Amino acid sequence: MVESSPVELPVGDAQREAAELLAGARELGVNLEPAQLAALSRLLDALLAANAQFNLTAIRDRPGMLRKHLLDSLSVLPFLRGPRVADVGTGAGFPGLPLAIAAPAHSFVLIEATGKKARYVASTARSLGLANVEVVNERAERYRPQAPFDTVVARAVASLEDLVAYAGHLCAAEGRLLAMKGKHPEREQLQLPKGFRVLAVHRLRVPGLDEERHLVEICRARSRPSAA
Ligand code: SAM
Repeated sequence: MVESSPVELPVGDAQREAAELLAGARELGVNLEPAQLAALSRLLDALLAANAQFNLTAIRDRPGMLRKHLLDSLSVLPFLRGPRVADVGTGAGFPGLPLAIAAPAHSFVLIEATGKKARYVASTARSLGLANVEVVNERAERYRPQAPFDTVVARAVASLEDLVAYAGHLCAAEGRLLAMKGKHPEREQLQLPKGFRVLAVHRLRVPGLDEERHLVEICRARSRPSAA
């Protein structure tokens, strides 16, 4: 899938894109090495090429993808805890793939119910040489990993209530569920299933995007408040 004709960016555009990505990531507290920048650019190539064949994402322009997929995904990197991370409902690989590129010391399991999307993500991870990515084509509620995750992240997948119902079992005792949301989900917060609570809601600013972003950090109700 990814092997299909990569879209070559003119040199000037490529430099501008790399500069925006580097500066945007830095603003988010993420330092990117040249190889990581190159991998993120190749991820955009792959997404554009695949999107031309089958509808993977509604965002079709490269600058939009850079901000709404790459930088938006990287905005949660400072909130990852522990080495094992799951991305529930990764779709075309967001936020999982950009995080895996930018945080090679973490291992990522990208869970996606739709076969077409899961195959694209697995093929892209392989072609980018991401040894820290495993793709699971399964509904999150049916997936039983050998060990729970330190961080379970999800963007645009479900209400907080449903997310906890689908993926709460994936979260370690002292782990975190990170729900990436647009507007502050005040009502959803009130409907969390028993056994989980909202620890914090962080307002995020994604460089180049004039849109609201919130990250809801959820933990198990019995989680120790002082746990790092
Ligand atoms: N997270 C990606 C993003 O922000 O670009 C994709 C968001 S898309 C709106 C939601 C994705 O979650 C879809 O690809 C859908 O197939 C997947 N999904 C929904 N419920 C799921 C579940 N219970 N387990 C696994 N994947 C699920």
